[in-house]
Amino acid sequence: MSLSDLSILYTRLSDVQADLKSGALSLPALVDYYLGRIEATSALNAYVEVYAEEARMRAQVLDQKFREQPEAVGRLFGMVVSLKDVICHAGHEVTAASKILEGFESLYSATVVERLLAEDAIVIGRVNCDQFAMGSTNENSVYGPVQNAVGDQLVPGGSSGGSAVAVQTDTCLASLGSDTGGSVRQPASFCGVVGMKPTYGRISRYGLLAYASSFDQIGTLTHSVADAALLLEVMAGPDDYDSTASQHPVESYTDLSFDRPAKIAYFAAALEHEQLHAEVKVRSAKTIQLLRQEGHTVEAVPFDYLDFIIPAYYVLTTAEASANLSRYDGIRYGYRNQEAGDLLETYRKTRTEGFSEEVKRRIMLGTFVLSAGYYDAYYGKAQRVRRLIYERTREILQEYDFIMMPASPVPPWPIGEKNEDPVAMYLADIFTVQANMAGIPAICVPCGELQNGIPFGIQLMADQFAERPMLAFADYLHQLPHKSF
Ligand code: GLN
Repeated sequence: MSLSDLSILYTRLSDVQADLKSGALSLPALVDYYLGRIEATSALNAYVEVYAEEARMRAQVLDQKFREQPEAVGRLFGMVVSLKDVICHAGHEVTAASKILEGFESLYSATVVERLLAEDAIVIGRVNCDQFAMGSTNENSVYGPVQNAVGDQLVPGGSSGGSAVAVQTDTCLASLGSDTGGSVRQPASFCGVVGMKPTYGRISRYGLLAYASSFDQIGTLTHSVADAALLLEVMAGPDDYDSTASQHPVESYTDLSFDRPAKIAYFAAALEHEQLHAEVKVRSAKTIQLLRQEGHTVEAVPFDYLDFIIPAYYVLTTAEASANLSRYDGIRYGYRNQEAGDLLETYRKTRTEGFSEEVKRRIMLGTFVLSAGYYDAYYGKAQRVRRLIYERTREILQEYDFIMMPASPVPPWPIGEKNEDPVAMYLADIFTVQANMAGIPAICVPCGELQNGIPFGIQLMADQFAERPMLAFADYLHQLPHKSF
């Protein structure tokens, strides 16, 4: 199947709301439509739990509210969303797609969930992901792999693969994911949807199961940039429960006007990189050409750190993960091995059985790079590399509006292909990780297709808290007439 074969009922909330207002659509009917889509696409394994009854009931309640007092409904009235299985939702299970949190029910909701619900969104279900958001393919899940709806048995990307496929296949209008090194943007690219990761601290992380806390941000997967902007406007802003949530004023992201020529940088080293797939290279060059024709400045700038990004990222994130995941010990919640004879054995058996191979690999790597004899050589050095990347990236963004590159150096690959070679898998993150290293916002929008209708996404990065111009330009870029391969 190619992307154009997927028919999408609504691609933006404003259209849903227009039809709800005119009476052409009712909210219960919309929820039923999405539930039907979830059932029809269940073989792709995007959902791990569907809240059918709850969503139907909420649709009835909101429908009633709308009929009695149309002006009283929230800004997200009509928006049906799914949540990645790392975002807490009170009274619902959250497991990070791991056996170690088997049966764990959240006692509170993440700040983002509270804010969505306060604006009358409907949560339709919990979606699959890589275990603890570690991965680039969504194969690393206790619920089994997710399949891309496009192509034959292709990965959807990861770790927010369930979110990307849920939106791609029109089972909801939007999905929340998390992005530590590309987990929103790369699956968006592989599935032909819009994936946005804001500035570090733009959105509260309260209620997001932590992977690497100095990198993690919640992001969105949508069909349109307009919906990404609206969701950001609703979710962004300070939060008493997360001291890293920024006080920086929340702008009107839904104002998508951008009426001047943009100045865009790209890295020649990226577009000539040996890892870059030939079709991705051609399409990237075509996007540059198209933007130049449209009157924008697109220039190559030197960036010497491309090949240091992945090693530094995997030292720092595994170090943080090894600390964050130490709380899953089988004592207070989640899975516990029942046969262990003493405390130490309980820890050992629970963690051995509860975590996947990939999660254990990262905990061990992270523990190693933080260990006394190696701290300086690995962790300390990676921190210094992060600083250099941060400084050079921000220096470029003082001179240019955006940095542009493909979100992924390669198209989606067949399920199972890179499983035996974790390093090959890690290298696929080469273009997305920079934004997390520097804490800047980034967005991936579909820009035409590769051969056989495989989606292709271009990523824009902007300076810290420059989400407004970034979204505006991304909306424009998304709507340009991209020719396919
Ligand atoms: N693929 C990257 C990793 O495995 C990114 C994951 C993410 O952004 N959560 O670390």
